[in-house]
Amino acid sequence: MSNEIRVRFAPSPTGELHLGSARTALFNWLFAKSKGGKYILRIEDTDIVRSSSDFEKSIINDLKWLGLDWDEGPGVDGSYGPYRQSERQKVYQAYAKKLIDAGIAYKCYSTLEELEEKKRQSLSKGIASKYDGRCRDLSDEEKKKFESAGRKAAIRFKIPSTKVVIDDLIRGHIEFESDVFGDFVIVRSNGSPSFNFAVVVDDIEMKISHIIRGEDHLTNTARHILLFKALGASVPKFAHISMIFGTDGAKLSKRHGATAVNEYRKLGYLSSALINYLALLGWSPEDEKEIFDLNDLISLYTIERMSKSPAVFNLEKLNWINGQHIRSLPVEELTELVVPFLEEDKFLKDKLSLYNKDTLIKIVEAISSNLVTLKDAPVYARMFFEEKVILNDELKELLESEQSRLVLNEFLKILRETNLSSKEILKEIGSKMKEVGIKGKNVYMPIRVVLTGKTSGPELFYILEIFGKEKCIKLIERCMDYGL
Ligand code: GLU
Repeated sequence: MSNEIRVRFAPSPTGELHLGSARTALFNWLFAKSKGGKYILRIEDTDIVRSSSDFEKSIINDLKWLGLDWDEGPGVDGSYGPYRQSERQKVYQAYAKKLIDAGIAYKCYSTLEELEEKKRQSLSKGIASKYDGRCRDLSDEEKKKFESAGRKAAIRFKIPSTKVVIDDLIRGHIEFESDVFGDFVIVRSNGSPSFNFAVVVDDIEMKISHIIRGEDHLTNTARHILLFKALGASVPKFAHISMIFGTDGAKLSKRHGATAVNEYRKLGYLSSALINYLALLGWSPEDEKEIFDLNDLISLYTIERMSKSPAVFNLEKLNWINGQHIRSLPVEELTELVVPFLEEDKFLKDKLSLYNKDTLIKIVEAISSNLVTLKDAPVYARMFFEEKVILNDELKELLESEQSRLVLNEFLKILRETNLSSKEILKEIGSKMKEVGIKGKNVYMPIRVVLTGKTSGPELFYILEIFGKEKCIKLIERCMDYGL
């Protein structure tokens, strides 16, 4: 085997890209990038019933969104394609033949019913069920009898009795006795390769040097090592990533909320934040730093800093990271990401054209500190698009106080009679009011309320900037017309 580092992410397109799978993809990607190796995407669609091209498209779309591009795989030519298992039938057949010819695999004619019955018997005796090897040593005559009875044979791998050793890059030394596994199917009776077989054949053919995948594959790995050896191939290095649990200690599932990458995209999480958070599920940098982009991660990532213990998915932490990423984006870029979420909002959809691009950018700047996810944007942006300000009794009362009247009169005067900038206007009203002993909240709250109908929101500076003088004057006059 050459010394080239080649890793792969091998999703089965039987569902949307799950957070756990995205994390596996990320660690493979980081491993390759940090070591100058190659990252391969392989679509494992041997389960024809559950796989679909829609799921494949959606997975590919999500991987692209996350920025985890591949060096070889669907849409990116390489020397070891095709990269979709359904297009590699001939390769599997050739490998299966090799094993049969070498006497390492054999035809098995057992029917599903027979196997199920055996399973039932084992379970009723409290024995772990495994294939009993009933077709291991069939005579030619027996085989012929099955065949003339119309039975279709699957092909099983003859498991040697041995100790399987995994020196896992994350979990350390692990041993299995191969006797715990029954001879497993490598080619089903319909001619399609089993998952365990196709994976090994492809890992050999695609010259994979390191296999990084979930801990749930650990027992598969033991089977795979036996196959690698039986096929005379060198065995790649393995790293099994710990599982992700919810805060309740159960394996992360729908029960804990969204689990698919595209759900998080629709909920308004940034891909950079999701990447950042997933990297911290099972890996940690040497220092306390917690905010990273992909480039930082490439330079910091080492497999030695991956943890054996389960990772705990914590939405609050993800939310915090998302907020950090939102606020570190240049506001122009953030605006591009926010606009589709504003467009999704029924109320805002037709009103976005009220403002030009620069003002939209200002609106996004004004609300960015409130955003946990991009989906929060319409709620905070709404006040900039509202035509009327509605005041409840409590707010009316606030505006009716003598102090408020003084503030609003003076504010109106400054707006009408000066040519000051928003910043200067706010300073001016502050100092004018100070002269008559009105300060702080008592100055700025009536202004905020009269302009927005709310007691909290973005800085007043943004409200003046975005509304402009005319609109501010109109809103105050309208209020005064009502006798306030
Ligand atoms: N296709 C397998 C899965 O989606 C991955 C197998 C592997 O990484 O070896 O679980």
